[in-house]
Amino acid sequence: MKKRALFLDRDGVINIPPPPEVRYILEPDAFHLMPGIAEAVRLCNQHRVPVVVITNQKCVATGKLSLEDLTSIHHRMEALLNAEGAYLDRIYFCPHAESDQCNCRKPLPGMILRALRDLKLDPADSWMVGDQPRDILAGNAAGCHTLHISPAPAPFAECSLPDTQSLPQWIFEHFLQKEDCHADFERL
Ligand SMILES: [Mg+2]
Repeated sequence: MKKRALFLDRDGVINIPPPPEVRYILEPDAFHLMPGIAEAVRLCNQHRVPVVVITNQKCVATGKLSLEDLTSIHHRMEALLNAEGAYLDRIYFCPHAESDQCNCRKPLPGMILRALRDLKLDPADSWMVGDQPRDILAGNAAGCHTLHISPAPAPFAECSLPDTQSLPQWIFEHFLQKEDCHADFERL
């Protein structure tokens, strides 16, 4: 039987997003976890639900960041989560720019589709969580459920939360319990 997964965008979901004038996380020391995210990942770990990162990193294509430095940043991400008893199952990143015309840069679903194949996951039972409309579009295109973390929810997202602080409770009540969340969505 195919299993479910939680797909997570990185910047703005796992880590505090860089300020607008910087735009990218370019060194490990600039990577800081969002409130509640370690607990959310840990809950999935405890229920043996794979947690998979799906992140656009155009800064590689534009030469702002080397692949080695991106790897160092991702080691820091994993170390910070591990320190709180949480771990990631896979990390997929798109190093391309729009001009590369790849099939993996969100809002295209390439990274999610590859993860679904690699880990033999059921999209119809999996969720994509992101803070940008392109995350939701990618999740929808891959046939997954979608959760938008934003004070201004995208109308095409299935569910919405105002911030990551409320993610652990949502995971516990709606993802792991597999209950419909439309009632909560209406209340937001
Ligand atoms: Mg983001």
